[in-house]
Amino acid sequence: MKTINIAIDGPAGAGKSTIAKMVSSKLGYIYVDTGALYRAAALYITENGIPDEDIEKSLENADISLKFIDGTQRVFVGDKDVSDLIRTPEISMAASRTSAIPAVRAYLFETQKKIARENNVIMDGRDIGTVVLPDAEVKIFLTASAEERANRRYKELSVKPDCPPYEDILKDIIQRDYQDMNRETSPLRQAEDAILVDTTELNLEQSADEIVRIISERTAGEI
Ligand code: C5P
Repeated sequence: MKTINIAIDGPAGAGKSTIAKMVSSKLGYIYVDTGALYRAAALYITENGIPDEDIEKSLENADISLKFIDGTQRVFVGDKDVSDLIRTPEISMAASRTSAIPAVRAYLFETQKKIARENNVIMDGRDIGTVVLPDAEVKIFLTASAEERANRRYKELSVKPDCPPYEDILKDIIQRDYQDMNRETSPLRQAEDAILVDTTELNLEQSADEIVRIISERTAGEI
């Protein structure tokens, strides 16, 4: 059976995962957050203190996988569900660094391809439209200004006691953008055939509606 693949790429904090989840539940597709794979790889590398030159070899035994439980993605290292452990600022920064290592990208490539071959997916990441799913039926490049993205992250974190100052969040976002866009392997960039959606002035519902509209238009007759 031919599957339908939707690629959503864009910088950190553009709302990709929240919006992609909303769109996937509207369409009944599986939502795949590929950032979780890179975060799990970063956790594995950091926890085991693996030097860069040994990463390729040691990933052979890492056994990083995604499972879909009641349609919701969980990420595993071996038998351990690390879905919550990977959501720290330290792992965000570590993932941004280790995801630039070609061996890490090569290791996770087939995991992503296989899920897309077997399911209708909305897959979000940085290089989905350019490298992982170059033949995706629809490609979206989702972005928002760095200040607006920092603002949203700050609001999300401000309910927690150890919320970092806004300036630190903005600095982290700018640094991650720089690292993601300037690495040699699979840098973050808009695919030529991707449609740009800027959510700076849109709320979540409006952003999701706009993407559903684009998908319906592009896949008319297919879904
Ligand atoms: O999307 P998220 O912020 O969880 O991703 C964590 C990091 O993983 C990103 O900063 C990026 O460096 C990396 N990543 C990537 N390619 C993807 C998804 C994430 O390089 N497809």
